[in-house]
Amino acid sequence: MAEIVLDGITKRYPDGAVAVHGIDLTVADGEFVILVGPSGCGKSTTLNMIAGLEDITEGTLRIGGQVVNDRAPKDRDIAMVFQSYALYPHMSVRQNMGFALRLARTDKAVIAAKVEEAARILDLTEHLDRRPANLSGGQRQRVAMGRAIVRDPKVFLMDEPLSNLDAKLRVQMRTQISRLQRRLGTTTVYVTHDQVEAMTLGDRVVVLRGGVVQQVGAPQQLYDEPANLFVAGFIGSPGMNVLDATLEQGVLRTALADLPVSDRLRRRLAEANAPRDVVVGLRPEHFEDAALLRPRGGRTATVDVEVLESVGSDVFAHFTVAGGTRAPGAPEEPGARRRETAADPRGRELVARIGTDTRAAEGSPLELWIDTDRLHVFDPVTGVALSHAG
Ligand code: ADP
Repeated sequence: MAEIVLDGITKRYPDGAVAVHGIDLTVADGEFVILVGPSGCGKSTTLNMIAGLEDITEGTLRIGGQVVNDRAPKDRDIAMVFQSYALYPHMSVRQNMGFALRLARTDKAVIAAKVEEAARILDLTEHLDRRPANLSGGQRQRVAMGRAIVRDPKVFLMDEPLSNLDAKLRVQMRTQISRLQRRLGTTTVYVTHDQVEAMTLGDRVVVLRGGVVQQVGAPQQLYDEPANLFVAGFIGSPGMNVLDATLEQGVLRTALADLPVSDRLRRRLAEANAPRDVVVGLRPEHFEDAALLRPRGGRTATVDVEVLESVGSDVFAHFTVAGGTRAPGAPEEPGARRRETAADPRGRELVARIGTDTRAAEGSPLELWIDTDRLHVFDPVTGVALSHAG
């Protein structure tokens, strides 16, 4: 069993900065867990503590049931894949892939067999005698993966392994890593700042902010039931729209429209003791051009379209509604939204994802349909979700 257990793991750097605050996390045997969050949130520090490259200030780390806090990286039975790949330029692909096994004085025939097998899995067989400099970025990335695979470790630790690739290759490699992890069944912890990578790769995703875990869950759970405004803004692209709202007689009054509250949501808000003033979240994809729909539930609102962006499969309509938001903490700039007030003269910029058949035009009004069954409601002070348990 190569379960990884982080029990109250904290990292304080020598300069006093606390990069990671008491993380509790269990990664099951064979599970693929993603650590995601903006730059500086403590992802790499956490991974490096699991790897043994950084000391653990407080807490206990177990790999496969053994406490490994004081074990050197080489004694933890882990293999790491870095963003830089860290390949040896003067060695061939074959030598790079077999290097760790040679250091461990593994039998030559065994090394050759393992390297051949990994090369076959990674489609590198015809490149085994080439040097890294003569390979494409994607091939180099696969060599770095191969070097980890041949060691047959208990755990793979990957730190932004796809960041150096162009967008198209990143998507291809993402699929490959996903297949490979499933095939090998090796417990994997993977660090990325890219929420799309996090959503598509992992069995579970850990969202970090300022060294504190915000939420741990399956990708769909983070999307459907974000625990707070930070996760709501971070997961999903474009991020969730937020608006100030006042809860009055079964309606959420906002500057966009009065949004009806379903029975389920009303019960949930009562259970959560929701205050009268709240923040409402609406995902861009839960709007539609009303002209493209037959009448059904939900609400409509007329907005002035400022910018229309077509990405082929969808159209994004940008518009502004009056007022700021009380919502605490925009994802990109922690605390930024806190300073805005309900009287913010700039208003609140929202975005709706609508069908490509739309006849909307920049500078013209557009009637938008709002899926009011998909509303999220948050506490305006703490940012905690009130519409679901999170
Ligand atoms: P991420 O991987 O999420 O970008 P890091 O784990 O690299 O974040 O860093 C988390 C925090 O710890 C950041 O505020 C960073 O400045 C700080 N940090 C990282 N390394 C050191 C170090 N060696 N000494 C002091 N602070 C550090």
